[in-house]
Amino acid sequence: MSRVFHRSLRQSYPTAVAGEGPYIIDSDGRRYLDACGGAAVSCLGHSATEVIEAVQQQVQQLAYAHSSFFTTEPMEQLAEFLIDRAPEGLESVYFVSGGSEAVEAALKLARQYFTEIGQPQRRHLIARRQSYHGNTLGALATGGNLWRRAQFEPLLTGVSHVSPCYAYRERLTGESDDDFSTRLAKELEDEILRLGADEVMAFVAEPVVGATLGAVPPVAGYFRKVREVCDRYGVLLILDEVMCGMGRTGTLFAVEQEGISPDITTIAKGLGAGYQPIGATLVSGKIYRAIEEGSGFFQHGHTYIGHATACAAALAVQRTIEEKQLLARVRELGAGLEARLRERFGAHPHIGDIRGRGLFLGLELVRDRDTRVAFDPALKLHAVIKKAAMANGLMCYPMGGTIDGQRGDHILLAPPFILEEFHLDEVVDKLDTAI
Ligand code: PMP
Repeated sequence: MSRVFHRSLRQSYPTAVAGEGPYIIDSDGRRYLDACGGAAVSCLGHSATEVIEAVQQQVQQLAYAHSSFFTTEPMEQLAEFLIDRAPEGLESVYFVSGGSEAVEAALKLARQYFTEIGQPQRRHLIARRQSYHGNTLGALATGGNLWRRAQFEPLLTGVSHVSPCYAYRERLTGESDDDFSTRLAKELEDEILRLGADEVMAFVAEPVVGATLGAVPPVAGYFRKVREVCDRYGVLLILDEVMCGMGRTGTLFAVEQEGISPDITTIAKGLGAGYQPIGATLVSGKIYRAIEEGSGFFQHGHTYIGHATACAAALAVQRTIEEKQLLARVRELGAGLEARLRERFGAHPHIGDIRGRGLFLGLELVRDRDTRVAFDPALKLHAVIKKAAMANGLMCYPMGGTIDGQRGDHILLAPPFILEEFHLDEVVDKLDTAI
């Protein structure tokens, strides 16, 4: 028995002892190129001096002050920074310690909003099949991933799931992007009407799907149509940018590329880039004002909300990204990595799809390239490839899940934004060996 209750009780893990740029070094001195940022977390690599200094300085000055007694400068400044750059309409930030907490806060803010405005019957949540929104019970209930949920049923009730915007199999049938997105928006509308338009609270989706399906961008026009449907029935649009946000897709918020604004957005991972645990829920002025004019209190405090050191770290991360113009670098490196992946794997008999945006790229592994039929899930090919890559000094993120609810195989690449061109070759060469 291990004294540490690890994620897998059947696996042993190397001991990470140091970080150097995009590399993690273990206790045997082995170096691993972090081509997935852990899980799309590390965007400045593992030794960003600007962030380390900011954390040291904050810990010395004031590590922590409980949010029911004080606000702090780093928290105020980080909120200002984010809201200045957030999609139009988002006006206030609630800080938490990670992605699942941010999703929980989003769900409760949506509930409270409708209670405050006298529509407490609006409780039903619509999300998408195969989605992942976190592991706490509310976030897990939101996600549409059957195999993840199975061991923990019964979950929160009042959640239903519609089709994800995943043009993959549909593309095989020749349906146009416009027809496909119109059909999905109609499916959402039908679901709202089936439940009763004034019973539905919110629709939740990731702008670019990260977890489970491996970096799937939406079809052009999809989110505009979804926004219209939500507006028509007074349903809130919650966008989960925990994985795809904070510059990962080449813009600070992934939704910027869709031309719409959500009512609530969740961010985490890249926000603190791994230097401190932090997440945040951004809300529209409409929601803020309803709560301000109503009870004036959000009954959701956690001990570590707005942690001063975490906020100082995130502020340093985000300022560094901006000062070094790393979002342009994400677009450039992303195009370079995607081109190399296509060149190397574009004709591979077992790679069904290569897709993504910016430094957020996914490879789908299939038994048959033409029919896109998945491998036997029992093989857990994604995990096998992860293991082979680790043995070869490469971290890539394994994911299981396909559109039809079976477990498929994906590899996610989401490296730090500070890579050099030669690192891209190292990623592709090592991945090739592993595959
Ligand atoms: N939402 C999405 C889209 C995620 O990818 C994740 C984490 N993979 C979460 C929520 C949960 O975040 P955390 O693991 O920080 O709780």
